[in-house]
Amino acid sequence: MHYFEYKGGELHAEGVSLSRLAREVGTPFYVYSHRTLVRHFRVFDEAFASVPHLVCFAMKSNSNIAILRLFAGMGGGLDIVSGGELFRGLKAGVPADRVVFAGVGKSDEEIAYALEQGVLMFNVESEEELANVDAVAGRLGKRARVAVRVNPDVDPATHPYISTGMKKSKFGIDIAKARAQYKTAAALPHLDACGVHCHIGSQITQSSPFVEAVEKVAALVRALRADGHGIRYLNLGGGLGITYRDEAPPLPCDYAAAILPGVRDLGCTLLFEPGRVIVGNAGVLVTRVLYAKSKEEKRFVIIDAGMNDLIRPALYESYQEARPVEEAAALRPKHKTDLVGPVCESGDYLAKDRLLPEYRRGDLVAIMSAGAYGFAMSSNYNSRPRPPEVLVRGDEYHVIRRRESYDDLILGESIPAFIAEGGR
Ligand SMILES: *Cc1c(COP(=O)(O)O)cnc(C)c1O
Repeated sequence: MHYFEYKGGELHAEGVSLSRLAREVGTPFYVYSHRTLVRHFRVFDEAFASVPHLVCFAMKSNSNIAILRLFAGMGGGLDIVSGGELFRGLKAGVPADRVVFAGVGKSDEEIAYALEQGVLMFNVESEEELANVDAVAGRLGKRARVAVRVNPDVDPATHPYISTGMKKSKFGIDIAKARAQYKTAAALPHLDACGVHCHIGSQITQSSPFVEAVEKVAALVRALRADGHGIRYLNLGGGLGITYRDEAPPLPCDYAAAILPGVRDLGCTLLFEPGRVIVGNAGVLVTRVLYAKSKEEKRFVIIDAGMNDLIRPALYESYQEARPVEEAAALRPKHKTDLVGPVCESGDYLAKDRLLPEYRRGDLVAIMSAGAYGFAMSSNYNSRPRPPEVLVRGDEYHVIRRRESYDDLILGESIPAFIAEGGR
């Protein structure tokens, strides 16, 4: 469900046509629909209205401060994975006590920063990290709330790069060893082991892996309580998938209906870390066709956005729909096509071997479902300034991140005197 639709023959974001945006902000650009963002957050949040809960938006999927502020205003918190994300979240105005800090490799500086700011909890991923969070908290005279991230060994049936809850994964602690970890944590004076965390992967399109994981972690919460630990929070992570092509993932209300029976009577505050399901279909990347050429049965359409702007197709071989902004273009003859970017890499494509209408120089193409892991994973590879991000609300639009300039590209770089003076 989203608000990118054809009106009067042109693809619009809510009430603003994408061709108008292209004229006014240039291409490529990311555009998000405010109404879609609000709707997705609300639908997820309301699915859990019957239990105490906090929706901690996984900001690695989209970290623009305008979007973070929007969700904070709706009562949301954040799931962060770095000190930089904490900084962004605080700048956006998200209260620190609604922030959970995950990730396998938190540095001492990041842990201290998060403790000083007063985050809700750390999701701890190893025994060494438990000891280290305790040590840093001790130095600061603080007590750190922690949840151990347990790995329930569930196959989420998704791409291996975004599958995180199996035994072979680098994430979390084997659930069979969790009770021993909580015993360790309880003996550390500067820790309050008040939560259990699990996150099994991303773009999960069925309820069953979630249900399987929830059964295992609920049993763990009961066992930990029997061992005398005061577990008050159960963090079920993120990972709910979206429709990129023809997937039919559970709706948030179906997901809630599937998992709530297993956890309701625990009386824990439930934490969730959805990313993709909130923002994925709330954004598109708009790009212009630069050139087209035909080679051995295949048409290469060269567009002005590349893998540096949107890396998902190259990294995960993921599918994102490509739609012409001008509706009538869809009626042109179709050809087997690669939509490729200007970056000097053969992996630089946004669509591969697709039957697409005959795109021509100057056409605008919308790469759909680009709101999650789109701009957030962009880079300056090939010294390409990153595109702007635009937020549409009704008939208005706001540039919530300007296009980078050439000057931005060399920000912070310097030439040492010995090189500047012609030495080597
Ligand atoms: C990436 C991540 C998420 C968000 O995953 P989505 O698939 O975008 O919902 C949540 N929690 C953790 C720990 C993550 O690493």
